[in-house]
Amino acid sequence: MKNRMKKLVEQLNQYAKEYYTEDNPSISDSDYDKLYRELQALEKDYPELIQANSPTHRVGGVVLDGFEKYEHEYPLFSLQDAFSHAELLEFDRRIKAEFPDAEYLAELKIDGLSVSLTYTDGRLQVGATRGDGRIGENITENLKRVKDIPLQLEHNLDITVRGECYLPKASFAKINQERQENGETEFANPRNAAAGTLRQLDTAVVAKRHLATFLYQEASPTEAGSQDAVLKGLGQLGFSVNSHYFLSSSMDEIWNFIEEMTKERDHLPYEIDGVVIKVNSLAMQEELGFTVKAPRWAIAYKFPAEEKEATLLSVDWTVGRTGVVTPTANLTPVQLAGTRVSRATLHNVDYIAEKDIRIGDTVVVYKAGDIIPAVLRVADSGRNQQEPLPIPEHCPSCGSDLLHFEDEVALRCINPLCPSQIKEKLVHFASRDAMNISGLGPAVVEKLFQAELVSDVADIYKLNTEQFMCLEGIKEKSAAKLSQAVQASKSNSAERLLFGLGIRHVGAKVSRQLLEYFGDIETLAGADFAAISSIAGLGEVIARSLETYFAKEEAKRLLEELKGNGVNLSYLGPKRVLDAPLSGMTVVLTGKLTEMTRSQAAEKLQTLGAHVTGSVSKKTDIVVAGSDAGSKLTKAQNLGITVKDEEWLLGL
Ligand code: NAD
Repeated sequence: MKNRMKKLVEQLNQYAKEYYTEDNPSISDSDYDKLYRELQALEKDYPELIQANSPTHRVGGVVLDGFEKYEHEYPLFSLQDAFSHAELLEFDRRIKAEFPDAEYLAELKIDGLSVSLTYTDGRLQVGATRGDGRIGENITENLKRVKDIPLQLEHNLDITVRGECYLPKASFAKINQERQENGETEFANPRNAAAGTLRQLDTAVVAKRHLATFLYQEASPTEAGSQDAVLKGLGQLGFSVNSHYFLSSSMDEIWNFIEEMTKERDHLPYEIDGVVIKVNSLAMQEELGFTVKAPRWAIAYKFPAEEKEATLLSVDWTVGRTGVVTPTANLTPVQLAGTRVSRATLHNVDYIAEKDIRIGDTVVVYKAGDIIPAVLRVADSGRNQQEPLPIPEHCPSCGSDLLHFEDEVALRCINPLCPSQIKEKLVHFASRDAMNISGLGPAVVEKLFQAELVSDVADIYKLNTEQFMCLEGIKEKSAAKLSQAVQASKSNSAERLLFGLGIRHVGAKVSRQLLEYFGDIETLAGADFAAISSIAGLGEVIARSLETYFAKEEAKRLLEELKGNGVNLSYLGPKRVLDAPLSGMTVVLTGKLTEMTRSQAAEKLQTLGAHVTGSVSKKTDIVVAGSDAGSKLTKAQNLGITVKDEEWLLGL
């Protein structure tokens, strides 16, 4: 049991990191919620095995590098959730046991990210994300670009309010279309797009994206006696308040509202993922209080992931940059979670066999990660007497024999000259997280390839404006822009190039980690297996993959050509020291430093392997205190945490 719980904590924390920190979830919310519930149930049965880092005991989210931390005066919380009518009745029973005449206010659960806005004298002072609930990111400048957030209130009040910042469905569709055209990775869903936008360092991008808000809470002490009075008051102050809310003391009536909203959901211009039910009286709320991560006076009913049935008409097989051949289903069109779906992934050849999916079957379709349509299984009554689905034996792009390796779920084309693979490699190389060559998306790559101007990534750096202009539909201005983007990418920090090379198991994050240690790609290419695999957490699979890649003559030639064409191979970010002395330690800085600024000190600590946070807790290992250190130092002393001074840090 202990192992299962440990595994669940590890998995959930990894998914939470992808979701909150990287704005790039790899599993759907409902799959996440299932694992979370499994952990909750196990923790209930085995409380002695609860782990300190369990996600059930923390509000998810951290502060990203590049933003200033903001310590919330009033902490922000998560919500306990419910997935059925029965669970809501249980909540009702608990509340009514204490307050028989309690009323509930049901509000839409807007699928965005929570923001906290602090006004002094009616003027917006600070806007911040939730972060871990206590420390968020100061994103004031970005929030000032969200048009419906008032910079000045109707009254000159000191007030802190909370709400959800979201991306309307129409803006989301437009952004993703643009990203697709530019060969950039699309956002998984509007929530991730909104979170990614607000955590942008460029305010101009925020201004372009048409974010909006719905406010629902006064966090600072309020004279309003109830949640519905809070909503009205927020509206009067000039905030956007969602108009779909419903007040009743009967949970059955609240359930009717939920059913109505479930039907309405597709017609709303923004995404909702449920309905939040709150005890209306603020006095009762105060008495009910909080658990470690959520108020006892509220519950979020989450909509189940939507599923629809469609007929499988045919299957397209396409080759990706690594040679993996993926099946996509062509379906009779269905309306699913807000969009018309006629194509859905069938994942891989093993999935098709395992689920025994055949042409002509009625299949169940859903949106994985809430955005990517996928075939789940054959519908209960969906089996037709058809032959098994034909599996291709030859690559649909180059015609070479396809292989199905024993340890792989997919079919693979291993021809290095396969045109589809080459084009996909080029698109990946130019994509946003790799070399970020704006404009060099699939359409332009296809034209360059057809014109025989490129056959590998080094060729991109031999192109000039005139050659771009020779391509059909590309005028002088776009050609000049493309050429400029290619030139600019030459001076990228090298982790982008390393990721862009598309080496197996070497993603964007691993690329950065590797170069933080090795400094440049040539040193990495010459490093031995032991040196690579010993780097914290990277392990043998990655080391083996790098070793195989760099041993090839082709890779050596490519690096030389890239270098010869002026592409930077060095890492330009802060380096890390192997066996860093503060590796794995949480350090807090406080007080005035004399020899260095706070951010220099933080950077040095990070280089030495430390995780620098803004507040002292039991998890803090060391507090570095300068002169005039205040409450953080006192807290550290009370908790018995090691306190060091600036001289110690300078000496490290
Ligand atoms: P939550 O999203 O379930 O609920 C809390 C949040 O609801 C609040 O912080 C607030 O931002 C929001 N909210 C929207 N409308 C509201 C309203 N009217 N009143 C009050 N709050 C409102 O909780 P969470 O802790 O932010 O996230 C947990 C959820 O995130 C999980 O249940 C899961 O669905 C999802 N998640 C998914 C993954 C993944 O990998 N897919 C990973 C981590 C978390």
